[in-house]
Amino acid sequence: MKKHFKIAVLSGDGIGPEIIDSALKVLDVIAKKYGLTFEYKFGLVGGAAIDETGDPLPPETLKICKESDAILFGAVGGEKWDNLPTDKRPEKGLLRIRKELELFANIRPAKAYEPLLDASPLKPEIIKGVDLVVLRELTGDVYFGEPRGREVRNGERVGYNTMIYYEHEVKRIAKLAFELARNRKKKVTSVDKANVLEVSGLWREVLNEVHADYADVELEHMYVDNCAMQLIRRPKDFDVIVTGNIFGDIISDEAGALTGSLGMLPSASIGERYAFYEPIHGSAPDIAGKGIANPIATILSAAMMLEITCKVPEAARDIERAVEKVLEDGYRTGDIWSPGTKRVNTAEMTEEIIKRIG
Ligand code: NAD
Repeated sequence: MKKHFKIAVLSGDGIGPEIIDSALKVLDVIAKKYGLTFEYKFGLVGGAAIDETGDPLPPETLKICKESDAILFGAVGGEKWDNLPTDKRPEKGLLRIRKELELFANIRPAKAYEPLLDASPLKPEIIKGVDLVVLRELTGDVYFGEPRGREVRNGERVGYNTMIYYEHEVKRIAKLAFELARNRKKKVTSVDKANVLEVSGLWREVLNEVHADYADVELEHMYVDNCAMQLIRRPKDFDVIVTGNIFGDIISDEAGALTGSLGMLPSASIGERYAFYEPIHGSAPDIAGKGIANPIATILSAAMMLEITCKVPEAARDIERAVEKVLEDGYRTGDIWSPGTKRVNTAEMTEEIIKRIG
């Protein structure tokens, strides 16, 4: 079994370097415990890269990514670069990485931690026990379909896009959904709008075909409007939700909001060859440099890397348990603090998590 991994580390801007530092400290402890070695290559991205090179994704950074087993990413962006033209802005660096590495699937877990139930906008009895994953297709759908454009027809302005999926695109995301579900609660909810859209008819058909190879996993189909409602009414009934690019854009944000803690949400983006791990939050310029950011989303992203890229799920579970224990023991960074709990900074939170892994 592979024990040595090359990791591209792109800290980016704002709180990026602070939270990445925490994740690396946790990975060091995990490496010792599980006999793994990580070879880190650091690359500039986002605003930091613009300042040094004028380019939010310099060729050297892309090269490092392409030579690595996985990419660990902090966050990019900040006021300093807000007035640059769109294709020169820090966020463009991130979009270009996703495209260059052909990352076709975005995996976003949303888990309700018992000690943080009060942070949810939902009633505790509804959010309690929620543990789901949204799997969003990233490279197809109406965001990329051709033809697209704006023009004048019969003296009136029109705008149009094309919603399109190829069979192979649906097949590969369907397979990933069933594989993910196999290691979880063995249920896939496929979300579409098959009552109206032909593209959804194909989506549903392909899901059913791929399902034939995964008899141990339950498959249900749900219209996207119903899914949006059921996520609020009975979120704990979901396990893996798989859906296309535009529905996934919306559903994944809704699922993320269920738990109410931006600083807690990790993510992974997966391609045939590369894998990219990042917290879902941004660079939080309002708290950058103060050492108070919540490192948990990034630490949990590193845990996803251990499971998906390194294939050491027990190490991922180890980190997840340590995070749960730290929360149970009452430690909170400012974003999740509530009266009666112990307020800690980034370094202290990291230390407490490490103690519970060791
Ligand atoms: P944001 O996620 O950076 O911050 C929103 C709020 O949540 C802020 O009050 C922030 O302090 C808080 N927050 C976020 N992460 C936190 C953490 N780990 N610990 C504690 N508090 C945390 O979103 P925004 O303010 O809309 O955007 C700020 C910058 O980040 C912008 O330049 C935006 O373009 C960029 N951005 C980048 C990414 C990315 O790199 N993937 C994603 C979203 C936004």
